Amino acid sequence: MGVELAIRPYRRRFAQPLYTAHGPWVWREGLLLRLRDTLGRVGYGEVAPIPWFGSESVAEALAFCQGQAEEWRSQPIPGELPATQFGLESAAADLDTENSVGGQEPAIPADSFANATICGLLPAGKTAVEIALQRLAQGHRTLKWKIGVHPIADEIHGLDQLVQALPPDARLRLDANGGLSLAQAEQWLAACDRVNASPQLATVEHLEQPLPPNQLAAMTALGERYQTAIALDESVATVDQLEDCWQRGWRGVFVVKPAIAGSPQKLEAFGHHHRPRLVFSSAFETVIGRRAALAIAARCAPSPASALGFGTQGWFADDWDTLTPAELWDRL
Ligand SMILES: [Mg+2]
Repeated sequence: MGVELAIRPYRRRFAQPLYTAHGPWVWREGLLLRLRDTLGRVGYGEVAPIPWFGSESVAEALAFCQGQAEEWRSQPIPGELPATQFGLESAAADLDTENSVGGQEPAIPADSFANATICGLLPAGKTAVEIALQRLAQGHRTLKWKIGVHPIADEIHGLDQLVQALPPDARLRLDANGGLSLAQAEQWLAACDRVNASPQLATVEHLEQPLPPNQLAAMTALGERYQTAIALDESVATVDQLEDCWQRGWRGVFVVKPAIAGSPQKLEAFGHHHRPRLVFSSAFETVIGRRAALAIAARCAPSPASALGFGTQGWFADDWDTLTPAELWDRL
């Protein structure tokens, strides 16, 4: 008898649809995986793809996992299945962790990160100021705001309102999800530079993925013209894409979502080899994927220079964020 692989698909509804430049996101679907060996040790993993980042579909991940015929032999996982690579490799690593029985004692407890080190997430649009003040009261110092959803004049006005409402030591990330034109990106960067020139205002830490992934050269040129940093996100969904953008000379910020990046081992090797400017981020995974992703972030950057983009708890219309991996598994 080898290692048994069990699969449980899940579907969670956002408490409010998440609006990005890609449109509304209403349901988060994925797979939970459990490996169990002959000693009764278990390891949990999660496949949490994001289709518009180029991840595989849940159906493709499910077909691959079911093809393992209930017995996991740790054979190579195809590169076209990056979220599956993350899920199975992190389950195998969890299984190898001595104290993994029942999944009760993760190497990095999800609650070991204070809100001060977690980037709080703001909804697109006018409610941002109100929610921003709540996030500050919860202890967050860095906040992320989705842009490229409403008319640009309204959103830049919203930025001015936000930075006036925030204390000067607060930091703000703007995430366009690749939804801006070049002219709009220039408008935003000019607005960010104007904010950042005022010491009494909060700082715009970076503008995330202003242009679509196929416009790396244009984003590199923008990075040379404006003071505010630009971060790649959709451009670098996988480790292979991270490596490619690094080889093509990108030295700005990289947003990394371990849950969709592929092999955790390869991701850690990339981080250790090049020492890039990494901002780790959630893919709206459950506690199982979150713990594995945060463990990778902790190994790549033991004392992160920038807040972790994991302010995603409480965004779903369920109580799963309060459960341990084993409890969540039993719930499904
Ligand atoms: Mg982003």
